[in-house]
Amino acid sequence: MYEYCSEENKESDLCGSDGVVYDTENNNYYLFAEHFKDEKVRIDVKYCPECGTCLTK
Ligand SMILES: [Zn+2]
Repeated sequence: MYEYCSEENKESDLCGSDGVVYDTENNNYYLFAEHFKDEKVRIDVKYCPECGTCLTK
């Protein structure tokens, strides 16, 4: 089931949708959105903008 802030989310799985992706290299979460084919946006987040879950570890 698709969860907006699942740790399992991958940029490639979101397929043009937005969602929170866990960055294993930097050990943080960021909001990923792909508005157009070549326009990708990544914003570091500490809380899920959808459900408000705290995303820090
Ligand atoms: Zn959430």
